[in-house]
Amino acid sequence: MEKAKNSEIKLVVALLLSGVIGVVVFWSGKTFKKDREEFFLYKKYVPYLDKKGENLIKKFVFKADTDEKIVVLTFDDGPAENGKGLVKVLEKYQVPATFFLVAEKISPQNINRYRSDLFTIGMHTYSHSNYDRLTEEEIQKDVAKTVEVFKNFNINTSYFRPAYGIVNEGLEKALDRFSLQGILWSLDPMDWKISNQEEIIKNITENLSPGSIILLHENRIKPQTLETVIKKLKEKGYRIVPLEKLLTYPVEHPKLLAGKKTLFLREKGQKEKEDGGYN
Ligand SMILES: [Zn+2]
Repeated sequence: MEKAKNSEIKLVVALLLSGVIGVVVFWSGKTFKKDREEFFLYKKYVPYLDKKGENLIKKFVFKADTDEKIVVLTFDDGPAENGKGLVKVLEKYQVPATFFLVAEKISPQNINRYRSDLFTIGMHTYSHSNYDRLTEEEIQKDVAKTVEVFKNFNINTSYFRPAYGIVNEGLEKALDRFSLQGILWSLDPMDWKISNQEEIIKNITENLSPGSIILLHENRIKPQTLETVIKKLKEKGYRIVPLEKLLTYPVEHPKLLAGKKTLFLREKGQKEKEDGGYN
């Protein structure tokens, strides 16, 4: 009798356990699917009918509208230690790139490696703040502080990329005030999240299209991976051009979903955590 009871308990425990495992498997599958959707998020935006919305979004560039096989490489969140290796690879292959630097991380010791005819420097906020969490006034102050730092380091740039690809009216006004051009991206291979370098390479080569602006992170992508990416792009007949060159083509602007006032190129909230800040 006692034995029978025990096996009943075991059966119940086993059933409960398999239930839990089932839920976990289902949940992780869902998360993965969501990531893939997010990867293509930029394709989902439809025209925003409000006139104001139209103005807002034209200050930002997604990609070039061209059939010519050109792409731009961009590296965010530096200056970072890993950047030294990336710069070496870019110099070795004479490949142009744009570095979107975080103002508070710039120092006399790390800025010189970006001063090259091969590279374009852009601003990436003062301390990587999420502009969706700031008031218009705070955004203005953040952009003003950023502009000041770049000026002090004698970096002449008008390119600005918001952290997390967040675009809103406060930023629009700030860009207006300082005559800046917003640069977003059209291809996010998710190097900020994925550490498997093969997967990052695959995400780039399989989703590439003419005129793409590719988002990479200075502290994430390994120099050897960059080397492979450069080779694969060339194999596919792509030319890596400077950002300035891409901007001479007709460009595509991001479009806001009807009724939305803020554009998130990454899903709200979640990413900040996964980014581990930006370091
Ligand atoms: Zn960033």
